[in-house]
Amino acid sequence: MTKTKTKTKTQKAEKHEFQAEVREVLNLMIHSLYSNREIFLRELVSNASDACDKLRFEALQDASLMGGDEELKIEIEVDKEAGQVIVRDNGIGMTRDEVVENIGTIARSGTKKFLESAADNKEFDANLIGQFGVGFYSSFIVADKVTLRTRPAGSKPSAGVRWESDGGGEYTLAQEDMPKHGTEVVLHLREDAS
Ligand code: ADP
Repeated sequence: MTKTKTKTKTQKAEKHEFQAEVREVLNLMIHSLYSNREIFLRELVSNASDACDKLRFEALQDASLMGGDEELKIEIEVDKEAGQVIVRDNGIGMTRDEVVENIGTIARSGTKKFLESAADNKEFDANLIGQFGVGFYSSFIVADKVTLRTRPAGSKPSAGVRWESDGGGEYTLAQEDMPKHGTEVVLHLREDAS
């Protein structure tokens, strides 16, 4: 008897560890920020807006990168029942390597400065977050789990990547088919942030 192999669309999730400095930033977001918690939304919208700007620029050279979309846009969806806030854009998106570099492992110079500044401030001001290039991590001020899906403009659906973390020491990465390019950040809200 011959066995038929079944093809799966989603690859098994791979575990990765955050770099120590990133872990410190996440820890701070989760445990030490009590005021201006809503700034996470400004940060995510700002990232989405940058992603749209980048694609607008690239599309000047190659209009096909727009993937048939007529306009660049940012959507914010609230699913009260599921306790989720979703920020979605049809901007430039990220490759798997870019996800690892931008959202996972590296501590850019901003991260260190951010931590030093946070240590100097007894009551850490959330408004500092935007200045230090650690905006994405502010998702964890209100979320106990964050799922990011992204696919670079000009790529096939199979280039989609799913990144997921509970803000602890690690995150997972998996291939996931995505019908469209762009990025979607799903915040699974903490109970105290609903
Ligand atoms: P900053 O935006 O200040 O660089 P962040 O931590 O907010 O710091 O984001 C890190 C990087 O991740 C961004 O510089 C960008 O390259 C990438 N990124 C974040 N959100 C998106 C998005 N919605 N689309 C494409 N790239 C993104």
